[in-house]
Amino acid sequence: MMGNLNHIEETPLILIADDDETIRVLLRRVMEQEGYRVAEASDGTTCLESFARLQPNIILLDARMPGIDGFSCCLQLQSLPGGDRTPILIVTSLEDRASVDQAFQAGASDFITKPIQIAVLRHRVRRLLKTGKVVDELRRQTEREQLLRTLLLRQMRESPSLDEVLNTTVSEVRHFLEADRVVIYKFSYSKDAVVVSEAVQPMLPSLQQTIAYANWFAEKRELYNRGHVVSTPDLNQADLPLSMIKFLQQAQVQAALEVPILLEDSLWGLLVAHQCTQPRQWFPFEIDALEQLAGQVALTIRHTILYENLHKLTQRLHLLATLDGLTQLANRRRFNEYLQQEWRRGAREQTHLSLILCDIDFFKGYNDSYGHQAGDECLKQVALAISQATRRPADLVARYGGEEFAVILPNTSVEGALYVAEEIRIKVKALGIQHDTSSVDRSITLSLGVAGIVPHHDTSPVTLITAADQALYRAKLEGRDRVVLQAHAEI
Ligand code: GH3
Ligand code: MG
Ligand code: MG
Repeated sequence: MMGNLNHIEETPLILIADDDETIRVLLRRVMEQEGYRVAEASDGTTCLESFARLQPNIILLDARMPGIDGFSCCLQLQSLPGGDRTPILIVTSLEDRASVDQAFQAGASDFITKPIQIAVLRHRVRRLLKTGKVVDELRRQTEREQLLRTLLLRQMRESPSLDEVLNTTVSEVRHFLEADRVVIYKFSYSKDAVVVSEAVQPMLPSLQQTIAYANWFAEKRELYNRGHVVSTPDLNQADLPLSMIKFLQQAQVQAALEVPILLEDSLWGLLVAHQCTQPRQWFPFEIDALEQLAGQVALTIRHTILYENLHKLTQRLHLLATLDGLTQLANRRRFNEYLQQEWRRGAREQTHLSLILCDIDFFKGYNDSYGHQAGDECLKQVALAISQATRRPADLVARYGGEEFAVILPNTSVEGALYVAEEIRIKVKALGIQHDTSSVDRSITLSLGVAGIVPHHDTSPVTLITAADQALYRAKLEGRDRVVLQAHAEI
C-alpha cells in the first residue's frame, strides 16, 4: 500500500460502458482529448468486472444495454468495494423524467442525454472528477480523524503499559498516515537515539536494533527542543550528514516526518514516519495529528514513570512497615500477620504449625557491662544466626520484642521444630560473643521454648504463643541455655 497521493495525482481513468461502438469511439476521443486515460466495456457484466479490476475514477454508463442494463449495473456497482464513492454519469437517450429519477435512485451522480453534446459532457466529467476528489479526500480525512479519536480514547481509558502504548501508537499512526514505516526513537544520555517501537511494512527493512547517532540530529536538535515538527518531503533534496543519508538509503527512506516527544520541556525522543517508495509532501492536518499523538505519548510516558516510582515507593514503604530497623528481620506486626495467615492455612489443610520463642540469657547484664551499642550489635549477630538456622522459604524469623525472637515454622511438626531450635541454640552459642556476667556461660546463650499444633478454625494463634511462652519460661527456670518443648496435653 502506497501513500494516498499517487492515487490522487494520477491521470484520471474513465470507464466507458456502452454497447454502441460508435458512441464508445466518440466518448473515448473526447475523454482522451481531455487528457484522461480510458477503459471500455461493451456490456454490463464487463463493466462490473472492469470496475473491480481497474477502480476507475469515473464511469460513463449507457442506460440501455442488452443483458444487465445501465440502471441495474449502477445498482450493482454500489455494492462493489469503492463503488459507492465512484461518480457514475448515466448516458441516456430517454429524456423522460422517470428515467432520470431511476438513474439517481440507482446511485448515479449525474446524467447526460443522447445525442451527446461534447461541451456538456466535458463539463460534467470535469465537475464530477473534481467533486469525486474532494469527497474522497474528505472521506479519508474523516476516517483518519476517527482513528485518531479511537486511539486517544483507548489510551485514556485503559491506562496500558508504556510498551503497549508505544506499540499501538506506531501501528495506528502507520495506518493513519498510510506510511511505510513509523518508529519511536528514544534519546539516550549520549544523545544517540534507539528505536523503542516500530511498525513497518513487511517487505521493508526493520530499524529495530539500529542506532541513530547524535550528530545526525545535531542541526535539528534546537528545532526539536522547541517542539518543531521537521518535515522532509524528499530526502534526495535534504541537507543531511552523509552517514545519515547512507543509513536512510539502506532503510529505503524517501520522505520523513519527525515529531519531537517532549517531557517537561526536555527532549525524550521522536515520533518518525517514513515513506519509502517515493517522496511525499506531508499535509498540515497529518502534521497536526502527529503532533497531538506525540503529546499523548509524552503524557503516557510521564504517567508511567510517575506510576513506576510510586509503585517502588509503596513497596519500600510496605517493607519498612514490616521490617525491624535494627535486625532487618520481620517485625512484630509482620509476625502477627504471618502467624494468622499460617494458622488459617494450617486449619484448612490440617497441617502442623510450630513456633519457637527465643530469649537471650542475662541480656540486661550484657548491656550493663558492654554498653547499649554493643548490645545492639549483639542483637544483630544473634538475628543473623537464627536466620541461618532456618532454611525453608516458608519459615519466618521475627524480632518479637527487645531481646526476644520468634520463629514460625509452617508445615512443621514439633520434632522438626525441636531440631531447628537446637540448631539455633548451637549456632548462637558458636558465635562466641563474650558475656562475662552471664551465670550460664562465658558467651551469649539463648533459652528457647517450642510449641506445635494442628490449627483449628475455632481457636486462635494465641494458644500457640502462650504454649511457646510457657515453654520458654520453663527453659529459663530449668537453668537457661536450653530448648524446652511444651507437650501437647498442655496446650
Ligand atoms: P533473662 O535471662 O531472664 O532473659 O534475663 P535478661 O536480662 O535477658 O532479661 P530482662 O527481660 O530482665 O532484660 C532484657 C534486657 O534486654 C533489657 C534491655 O537492657 C535489653 N534490651 C531489650 N531491647 C534492647 C535493644 O533493642 N537493644 C539493646 N542493646 N538492649 C535491649
Ligand atoms: Mg526477655
Ligand atoms: Mg533475656
